[in-house]
Amino acid sequence: MTAGSRRRSHGPLLAALTALVVAVGCAAGGVGESGPQEPREPAPRQSSRPAAPASPETETTRADGTTSVAEFKSDIDDAVTIAERYWGAQFRSSGQEFRPISRIVPYQREGEISCGGQALPRNNAVYCSQGDFIAYDVNWSVAAFRQVGDAFVFYLLGHEYAHGIQIRLGIRANFTIQQELQADCMAGAYLGDSVRDGTLRLDAGDLDEFREGLLAVGDDPDQPWFAEGSHGTAEQRTDWFFRGYERSLDACNLR
Ligand SMILES: [Zn+2]
Repeated sequence: MTAGSRRRSHGPLLAALTALVVAVGCAAGGVGESGPQEPREPAPRQSSRPAAPASPETETTRADGTTSVAEFKSDIDDAVTIAERYWGAQFRSSGQEFRPISRIVPYQREGEISCGGQALPRNNAVYCSQGDFIAYDVNWSVAAFRQVGDAFVFYLLGHEYAHGIQIRLGIRANFTIQQELQADCMAGAYLGDSVRDGTLRLDAGDLDEFREGLLAVGDDPDQPWFAEGSHGTAEQRTDWFFRGYERSLDACNLR
């Protein structure tokens, strides 16, 4: 996936995605002390998954060219810039002022960043409404970037950014899963629209990277859909992401 004039070559996708270190646990309302209508952060699912690499610079990489920490940072920056432009334009077109999410904060250690008084765990990414920031475990995110590809970074950022937009729009779903699947749809819309208007260019394999990433972040099949912290099965998350991707925000039930 390419923004602006940068180009990057892609090799073949991994045949199978193994042990991806991804939960994409993210809270619409932040973690802790946020009241019953703001879903709490689900515990990161790391029991059967390897820990993210301690040193991203030396981790073995997949052979698609999207491997360095510098490339990761550049993709995060692009994803943020494009999200700000995209949502700014959406808000202005409906006559509303837009305030970008105030900060994007990488972290490495549990407890390094808190949201609403609660320490953020490793292997996670969140939007925190108290403080209006996105925080992500950089080692975990780089590992996912290497395993899935650069498209995953745009999805991850797009999903968390969507939670900030939900707050700005005053959207509070009854169940976590509704808030989460809508955020997937909004992430899809932000990416699909950005591809359609030429802001982003897809490289070979990017759509498969989205699918791979979404498969990896689905809830366990035995998790009740109504449980606090449910994000949706891989099938549901894929379905909602591509609804937004293909049909834009009209598919996301924003009003
Ligand atoms: Zn989320």
